[in-house]
Amino acid sequence: MQRLYQARDRIEAQFLLDHLARQGFSATLLGDYLAGAAGELPVDIYPTLWLVEDADLPHAREVLARFLAEAQAEVGPPWDCPRCGETVEGAFELCWNCGSGRP
Ligand SMILES: [Zn+2]
Repeated sequence: MQRLYQARDRIEAQFLLDHLARQGFSATLLGDYLAGAAGELPVDIYPTLWLVEDADLPHAREVLARFLAEAQAEVGPPWDCPRCGETVEGAFELCWNCGSGRP
């Protein structure tokens, strides 16, 4: 098994795992049962994608990098709220802090 990617949370991890499966890779998710304890434990408890076949690693990395780049391009970059100055993730249309719309 080869460590492929450490996800930010269980949702991202599952999303990427599904994508890899659709591309024919055999991958598994480890550590997601500990995500609820984040903040109290070292950072390596975040859900991590592992590749079952070592030989798939270079190709799987390529597929994952392309997929992440496309996902990022789709939601757009983070934006700064014109009212309160908070940085908001590109996926959101409203500022989480003050409720202002994206400029
Ligand atoms: Zn704001």
